[in-house]
Amino acid sequence: MNIHEHEAKEVFRAYGVTVPEGKAAFSVDEALEAAKSLGGDLWVVKAQIHAGGRGKAGGVKLARSLDEVKEHADAILGTTLVTHQTGPEGQLVRRLYVETGVDIDRELYLGLVIDRATQGVVLMASTEGGVDIETVAEETPELIHRIAVDPLLGLADFQARQLAFALGLEGKSVFQAVKFMKGLYQAFVDKDASTAEINPLVVTKDGALIALDAKMNFDDNALYRNKDIAELRDEAEEDPAELQAKAHGLSYVNLDGNIGCMVNGAGLAMGTMDIIKHYGGEPANFLDVGGGADAETVTEAFKIITGDERVEVIFINIFGGIMKCDVIAEGVVAAVEEVGLQVPLVVRLAGTNVEKGKQILKDSPFDIVSADSMSDGARKAIELSNK
Ligand code: GDP
Ligand code: MN
Repeated sequence: MNIHEHEAKEVFRAYGVTVPEGKAAFSVDEALEAAKSLGGDLWVVKAQIHAGGRGKAGGVKLARSLDEVKEHADAILGTTLVTHQTGPEGQLVRRLYVETGVDIDRELYLGLVIDRATQGVVLMASTEGGVDIETVAEETPELIHRIAVDPLLGLADFQARQLAFALGLEGKSVFQAVKFMKGLYQAFVDKDASTAEINPLVVTKDGALIALDAKMNFDDNALYRNKDIAELRDEAEEDPAELQAKAHGLSYVNLDGNIGCMVNGAGLAMGTMDIIKHYGGEPANFLDVGGGADAETVTEAFKIITGDERVEVIFINIFGGIMKCDVIAEGVVAAVEEVGLQVPLVVRLAGTNVEKGKQILKDSPFDIVSADSMSDGARKAIELSNK
């Protein structure tokens, strides 16, 4: 689960990571009030959406007067920001964050991720902070310094100091950087985060460190024990199809391709995506209806897939284990009856009562393409999607 920048900054603050003073605002008037109560003569008006890259897209603007605050708030609120993280459809800006502006000397990068290779948390830092860290990672990866954190010992001071030196920090900035890194790591562990990022972490003209941006992502499976974080869920920022799926107990992730997949079991779902890719196709989604899927679940899943305009063919790949193939086939027919069939449907069944299941599909009034294996199904789906 994702949270907004201003919420992540509250978490940072609680862990000793310095952030600018700021206030969230849901209207232009509120933004103006926020700027007035913050005082000073430099503010930053920031779009709050669950995506980065706002700066380049015009979602982060410096204001040198209250009039400018109003102007920027007016311009940003209610627009749809398209950044490299939102996808082409963009994200509607429903809230703003108004902050006290900071005089920047250097922009650094600090981030924590879970690294599969070391099976632990890795702390990353770079002198190349700012808006283009993805490019840095791709083109000059040597400029990103990494430290694997021992899960039992935690982040050691000497490790944090090493990173601080690698960032070219000196004097009191080193101690502040160590405090930030340890704070960020503790927040990450305490709140069961999956990523935590400060980009940019700025050094001001007088050598102080401030987190100018904040991003935190959390492990959904641990939200039950992080109620304070769970409360921050902003459904307006989430994919409506994914929310609908969650409400029906389906695991669904929207992707960019055109082959809608309905599969039972996460492993088979991943295998299905792999085999589609293998034969040159692009899955439109990951969808696991679960081992015990019944007609109702299949219908819900069907609605979600057919609601995706990009889907040009549907590939159902189900192993009848707990649920027998004939029951699944009845579910598929019932789903098609209810939802209709605008695109070709390929079904591959295997497992208990497979022949009975295939017969049910064949006897149905719908034009359902039957496949004999995963490869066969993937190839047929790709072929139909290319028509
Ligand atoms: P992102 O583009 O979504 O990552 O948004 P950020 O919060 O990182 O802001 C983008 C850029 O705006 C930063 O890299 C800074 O260069 C600039 N920026 C943000 N806040 C301030 C500020 O207080 N003062 C100045 N001078 N620049 C800022
Ligand atoms: Mn940023």
